[in-house]
Amino acid sequence: MITQAMLIEILENICKTIEENMSYLTELDIAIGDGDHGINMNKGFTAVLNKLPSLQDKDCGVILKTTAMTLISTVGGASGPLYGTAFLKASSVVNGKMEINNTDLLEMFNSAIQGIVSRGHANKGDKTMLDALYPAYDALKEAIDNNNTLKEALQAATEAALGGVEYTKTIKAIRGRASYLGERSIGHQDPGATSSYLMLNAAYNTINK
Ligand code: ADP
Ligand code: MG
Ligand code: MG
Repeated sequence: MITQAMLIEILENICKTIEENMSYLTELDIAIGDGDHGINMNKGFTAVLNKLPSLQDKDCGVILKTTAMTLISTVGGASGPLYGTAFLKASSVVNGKMEINNTDLLEMFNSAIQGIVSRGHANKGDKTMLDALYPAYDALKEAIDNNNTLKEALQAATEAALGGVEYTKTIKAIRGRASYLGERSIGHQDPGATSSYLMLNAAYNTINK
């Protein structure tokens, strides 16, 4: 169970993690994109961090929807609308709820992925954030189906996301700016897959405290 107070703490940690990794994400994007992924993400999540104090008493749906709208309105570049849509879809699963149970969490994750797909039309193996998120979802589902704890499930999801990040080094980009490089994108790690992993890891670290 994730209470709304825990959700706010998770978001706070995501914001901090993105800030700490801003240069790292930007370096990855310099190699195969336009070198702004860290900057884009940090701009969005700094704005989210500033909204969190006003969300202390709100339900999980409002917290996530505000996060979504903030990302959509502040992040330029592909990642803003994609992550914004992901948070927006996740928010609608927990409208009016003060806590998120494991079934909600799975449904939120699935809806978030579907939102990214419907917005960006990427497939598995196109070297995008989805290559971290799909394996993370599968691992989360397997862990929850097997009655593991939330902590164990998030750990499994985080590890699977990291595996997905490694996998992006081996494949050619089909979507996003990196696709302009074609074969030359092989050998490089996808920035968006990396930010997805970092966000999941921040969520896991918050629960694991
Ligand atoms: P931009 O490419 O517009 O500068 P960012 O650098 O912030 O935006 O984000 C780049 C990341 O966005 C990529 O590393 C990739 O993971 C993700 N991305 C790009 N296009 C898509 C898409 N169509 N579907 C899913 N993810 C995408
Ligand atoms: Mg970029
Ligand atoms: Mg850009």
